[in-house]
Amino acid sequence: NTESALHFAKSKGRRNFQFYNEDIQTKTLRKLTVGNQLRRALNNNELELVYQPKLDLTSNKIIGMEALLRWHNANIGAIEPDEFIAIAEETGQVNEIGNWVLREACEQAKKWQVRNFNLPVSVNISARQFQQQSLYKTVASLLAESHMPPELLELEITETMLMEDPDSAITTLTQLKEMGVRIAVDDFGTGYSSLSYLKKLPIDTLKIDKAFVQDLGKDKDDEAITNAIISLAKNLKLNVIAEGVENSEQLYFLKNAGCQQVQGFLIAHPMTAQASTLFCDEKLLR
Ligand code: C2E
Ligand code: MG
Ligand code: MG
Ligand code: MG
Repeated sequence: NTESALHFAKSKGRRNFQFYNEDIQTKTLRKLTVGNQLRRALNNNELELVYQPKLDLTSNKIIGMEALLRWHNANIGAIEPDEFIAIAEETGQVNEIGNWVLREACEQAKKWQVRNFNLPVSVNISARQFQQQSLYKTVASLLAESHMPPELLELEITETMLMEDPDSAITTLTQLKEMGVRIAVDDFGTGYSSLSYLKKLPIDTLKIDKAFVQDLGKDKDDEAITNAIISLAKNLKLNVIAEGVENSEQLYFLKNAGCQQVQGFLIAHPMTAQASTLFCDEKLLR
């Protein structure tokens, strides 16, 4: 009857309200815990970079490595970079962590260069890091410190970050490009690019987001978007690479669509620096 239905709705509403509160409390607590532990992560050597290769299908050569951050902390347990980077952005710790990542990646690229692997290393840059006026100075001094040629460093900036403030993005990217650093637009297709701005941005590469790659060979819409990104890149004379390639069906589609560069579990999972070196040794000897 109406009365009990009303009662049900009320109690349900109250319960939902309670859940909502608990949810906020849980999130706040998680943020505090993660933030506190993260403060010690650098000093305790809890951070590590793993590397995922990028493969060129025409030459069958590894053309670069993407550095991906991992955090080993016994109190927190398994935690993904998406989560702790977002928290570090809020707590203001992301610049310190980001600088550590940049330095570590440059040192690794230098080590590979000494072994005669001319492997560009890509580093993901967070939104706050990208907004820093002094980013190019930080990058310049790290390059000098590690005696690394700037063309061996690529920065991955997400499409969303670029479009948030396209004019200042142009300024920052121009400073970086003048130094010789390469720029890739990460997660391309998920943001809302203004095509007229895209033309003005001094960028080298578009990375097709793995969300579109996932269903290639099955989903006509994702295939249409992927084709559109590939032809956009060709027309703007940009490199294009697909991320998240997991099976040969996706690879086949990409190859036929004219996307020569791929990255994903099918080629290799992200690996420790040591395993990456072995991987390259084998690839280069073959
Ligand atoms: P991203 O830069 O787009 O990196 C690609 C993500 O996809 C990585 O997750 C990678 O491990 C994963 N991946 C690679 N191949 C495949 C595949 O074939 N299938 C699937 N399903 N996934 C694949 P990860 O390492 O968890 O990183 C997630 C995100 O966290 C990154 O997305 C990046 O935005 C951010 N991130 C990672 N390391 C750093 C860092 O050092 N600094 C900053 N600011 N952000 C980072
Ligand atoms: Mg990336
Ligand atoms: Mg991506
Ligand atoms: Mg991502």
